[in-house]
Amino acid sequence: MGYVESILRKYTSFGLEHLHQIHSHLLVTGLFQFHHSRSKFLDFCATSSAAAAAGLAYAIAVFRFLQSPRTNDWNAIIRGHAKSDHPINAFHWYLAMSRAPCKPDALTCSFFLQACARALARIESLQMHAEVLKSGCGADVLLQTTLLDVYAKCGDLDYACQVFDEMSVRDIASWNALIAGLAQGNRPYEALKLFNRMTEGRGSEFMPNEVTVLGALSACSQLGAIKEGEKVYDYIRKRKLDKNVIVCNAVIDMYSKCGLVKKAFGVFEAMRCLRSLVTWNTMIMGFAMDGDGHKALQLFNRMVENRHRLAPDGVTYLAALCACNHGGMVDEGTRLFELMGRHGVRKNMKHYGCMVDLLGRAGRLGEAYDIIHSMPIFPDAVLWQTLLGASTIHGNLEMAENASRKLVEIGSTACGDFVLLSNVYAAHERWSDVRRVRDAMKTRDVKKVPGFSYIEMNGAIVQFYNGDKSHPKWKDIHAKLEEIRFKIRELGYEPGTNYVLHDIGEEEKDNALSYHSEKLAVAFGLIGMDDASTININKNLRICGDCHVVIKLVSKLYDREIVVRDRTRFHRFKDGVCSCRDYW
Ligand code: ZN
Ligand code: ZN
Repeated sequence: MGYVESILRKYTSFGLEHLHQIHSHLLVTGLFQFHHSRSKFLDFCATSSAAAAAGLAYAIAVFRFLQSPRTNDWNAIIRGHAKSDHPINAFHWYLAMSRAPCKPDALTCSFFLQACARALARIESLQMHAEVLKSGCGADVLLQTTLLDVYAKCGDLDYACQVFDEMSVRDIASWNALIAGLAQGNRPYEALKLFNRMTEGRGSEFMPNEVTVLGALSACSQLGAIKEGEKVYDYIRKRKLDKNVIVCNAVIDMYSKCGLVKKAFGVFEAMRCLRSLVTWNTMIMGFAMDGDGHKALQLFNRMVENRHRLAPDGVTYLAALCACNHGGMVDEGTRLFELMGRHGVRKNMKHYGCMVDLLGRAGRLGEAYDIIHSMPIFPDAVLWQTLLGASTIHGNLEMAENASRKLVEIGSTACGDFVLLSNVYAAHERWSDVRRVRDAMKTRDVKKVPGFSYIEMNGAIVQFYNGDKSHPKWKDIHAKLEEIRFKIRELGYEPGTNYVLHDIGEEEKDNALSYHSEKLAVAFGLIGMDDASTININKNLRICGDCHVVIKLVSKLYDREIVVRDRTRFHRFKDGVCSCRDYW
C-alpha cells in the first residue's frame, strides 16, 4: 500500500477541514506532484461517502487547477459523478475528457457505464458499448460485467444476454445480474432457463448463491411456476441457503403466489432463522391472497401478542385489511382500521383503498364515501374507481355518477371507468346516457390494457393473449372452447353481456368473451394435461364476470380443479363453485 493510501486510511470519519489538511500535507511534502498520489487523493475526495457532495466539489476545485490532468485524474472526477446524486454529469465530464490530450481507458468506460446504470441512460450505454468495442477493450471482464449490469437495469435484456454469451470468463456477479434483470424485466421464463443452466453446470463453474436464488424465486412467483419453484427450493435446502431470512421470505412469497399457501406456512413454521417483519407480512398477505381471512387474522393476532419482538407496521395492517376484504369480514376490517389509528401506524392510499373496497362491496356505500371525504390525503383515481365499482354492483346510480364525476375531474382515461358507468346506465335503461359515455370514450382516447394469461404445462410456461391464435395447437384449443360453449349452454349459460362494451354486435360480443386469455388457457389445460392434475393459470388483470361463470361450470363439467390467480387474489374453482364465493 502506498504512502498516500495509508494516510487516507487513517481517516474513518472526517469533514471538509480534513480534506484541507490532507491536501496541505501532500503539497508540503511534495507528494502532490506525483500523479499517482494526486489522483488517489482526488478519487478519495470525489467518491468518499462521508464527505458526500462537498467532497466532490472539492475534488473538482482541485482538478481545475491542474496544468495537464492525466487519465486517472479525469477518472476520479467521472467516478465521483457516477456515484453522486447526479450521475448524468459524468457524461459531460467524459465529453470534456475526450477533447483533452489524454485519452479514456477501460476504467473511464467502466465509470461512465456505472453512471448509465444509475441514470438508466439507454442511449449513452449503447454509445459507450460501441466505444468499448472500437477501443479493443471488448474482452475486458470488468467492462463486460458493467455492460451486462447496465443493460439489465435499463431493461435491454436482449443486449444483456448477448453480452453474457460473448463473455469468455463469467463471475457469479454477472450471472446474478442477468438472472435478476430478466426476472425484474418481465422475462421470468428466461431467468429460470439461465438458473437451470447454472445449476446443471452447463458453461458455469459457479454455484448459485443467495442472490441467485432470489432472482429465480422471483421469476417463479411471477410465472406461478410451481414445479420450477419446488426445484429451486430443493436446491436451497440442499445448499443450506435457507438459513438466510431473506431467502426464506422469498420462498414463502413464491409458494403463496403459486397458490400453495399451506406449503408457504410449512416453510414459515419450520424456519431455522429468526423471522423478520417481512416474514410475518408475507405470510399474512399469503393467507389474504388465498382468501383465508381467518388464518390471516389468526397470524396477525399471534404477531400482536408477540409484541415485545415485532410490532405490526403499515404493510402488516394492509395485509390484514386485504384479508378482511377478500373474506368479506367488514366488522373485523373496521376494527383493524381503527386500531391502526390508535397504534399510531400511518395510513396510506392503499389502506384507504382497501377500506373503501370492503365497505363498498358490503353495500355500505355511504360509509365508504365518508371515508374518502374525511381522509387527510388527496384521494387518487383508484379510490374513486373502487367506489364506482361498488356502486355498480349495488346498482346505486347516484353514487356511481358521483364517483365518475370525480374521475373525470382527475382526468382518468381508463377504459374500465367508462364501461362501468355505461353499464350502470344500461341497467337503468338510460340509453341516451349510455350513448353519451360511449361518445366521451371516443373523444378522450381511452386505453385498454391487453389481457394475458400464463399456464404451466409439463414444466413449460405457455402464454396466451386475448383471441390468441399463435399457439401451434390453436385449432384444437378453439375446438375445445366450442365444445365447452356448447355444453355449458345446455346447462342454461348465457354469455354475460355486461362484461364487454355495448358498441359491438351480439354475435361478436359473444366471440370477444369466448376468447379471453384465461378461457384459452383453460381449454389448453384440458387438452394437454392428464385428468387428475389441477390447472393453474396466472392472469394479469382482474378476471371478468363471464370467465368466472364459465370456469365455475367447466370445473363441474370436467371434474377438474382450476386455480386462477388474477391481479388481486386466487380463485380456486371446484365442483362448480369458486373459493372467492363470487366476491372479488
Ligand atoms: Zn373474461
Ligand atoms: Zn372466484
